[in-house]
Amino acid sequence: MASNSKIASLRPRNVQKSYKLAFGAPAPQRSLLKKSSGVAKQSRGKKAMKFTPTDSLLFTTNGPRLGPGAWCSICRDGDDVVICTTCKVNSICTLCIEFNFEDPETENFECPACFIKRSPHKSYRWRLNSRGAGRENLPKVITTPLAIIAIHLQGMTDRGSVIVYHHLAEWLQGNLVLVDLTFNFDDPNNQFESNLDTMLESFETGDFKEWTRFLVVITTHSDPETGYLHIAPGHTASAPVDELFNFMFPERFHNILKRSPTNILSLLSCGALSNQPESREMIKQISSTNLFDKVLCFSQRNLQTAFTHKFLMDLALNQFVFDRMGITNTLRDHQALGAHTDIILFRPGIIQTFRWTHPGARPMGHDTSSSLQCPKCSRLNTISPKFLEMDSTRLRCSSSDCRWEETYCRPTHFNWCQNESPRNKEERGAWLYSEEKEGNNKSMDVA
Ligand SMILES: [Zn+2]
Ligand SMILES: [Zn+2]
Ligand SMILES: [Zn+2]
Repeated sequence: MASNSKIASLRPRNVQKSYKLAFGAPAPQRSLLKKSSGVAKQSRGKKAMKFTPTDSLLFTTNGPRLGPGAWCSICRDGDDVVICTTCKVNSICTLCIEFNFEDPETENFECPACFIKRSPHKSYRWRLNSRGAGRENLPKVITTPLAIIAIHLQGMTDRGSVIVYHHLAEWLQGNLVLVDLTFNFDDPNNQFESNLDTMLESFETGDFKEWTRFLVVITTHSDPETGYLHIAPGHTASAPVDELFNFMFPERFHNILKRSPTNILSLLSCGALSNQPESREMIKQISSTNLFDKVLCFSQRNLQTAFTHKFLMDLALNQFVFDRMGITNTLRDHQALGAHTDIILFRPGIIQTFRWTHPGARPMGHDTSSSLQCPKCSRLNTISPKFLEMDSTRLRCSSSDCRWEETYCRPTHFNWCQNESPRNKEERGAWLYSEEKEGNNKSMDVA
């Protein structure tokens, strides 16, 4: 028999490295400001985009510019539409409301959303023919120009932003632009600052000066110990998130972002970024700048970003196109993301953590392997859940010689999203949330 040490040095033949090697890893802290201050700025007059292996700036936009009336707000289709004279945003087609073009009142058309705000108890002058294509009672389709700005570490792909772009382009056409900006602050010749200048100029006075809404996605690794973000490929350097933020978002960028109160910042990095207290505090400060309505992070220690793509697609569609500002409606459709990670939402003055629960897979939000394999008899697929009451789920092994069981309770700081709880084990799952408010160090219950 081989000795233990010899066994340890042997790798069975069916062991190999997985495709995904690029988890966050420790990277020495390096000052980003110092590093880049020595870099010569490209002359401002030089507009040509430069593509180098280390960094790039790329704009993607396609299709016609849209004005008001691009879509019927109700059926989300169109043809002849009448624009609301009050909001000048909503427009309704001649199938959804039978307009009489000879009626002079058509020229003073007011959409249902505006009307109900002004006179909630009066009868509406126009007759609706259709329930509409959405879930909401007063649907909207907003086509105000939107920019998706994807800033990512050189060498890391940002497919998520590309997918979000294509998802929303259907609705926004040429009112949508995707800006792809890479960085590598370890390269003394890096062009990040001049690329950023070029981008900001395009929003200030250039082709995209009419753009008023922004989804910014920053993709990079984080150091699992400090939560600092990698500023160069190959785990060679990291910096605190606030330092990176201050560098990437100069005053000029602030002024552009201030055009809208509904921007989103998504920080696509492993969980250490929002889990490490120092780093979490910095994200709180970033959120308190009020430049973003939502700052999103994910708690998973080794985040598989592929799980976040569909969620961001729907969140962006709901928020920017359909004007549905809450996050919980979107979460409901994204249980697969919840099985992978909590979602941490930073808003000015408040941090919300959303955690998925499932009676079988994640009883009361507890991440346990017990539902797959009995901890006592080690059999597979013998565990069945039973929902006991509002606040607990029991897992029990069905093997007659085992009968292991354990009860999981709702964590005290968490409450059910939208007061929904799974009522029985057939239920698909639900979301819990906790809130941490400004001035409280501890999570608190919200009744
Ligand atoms: Zn319609
Ligand atoms: Zn209106
Ligand atoms: Zn068992």
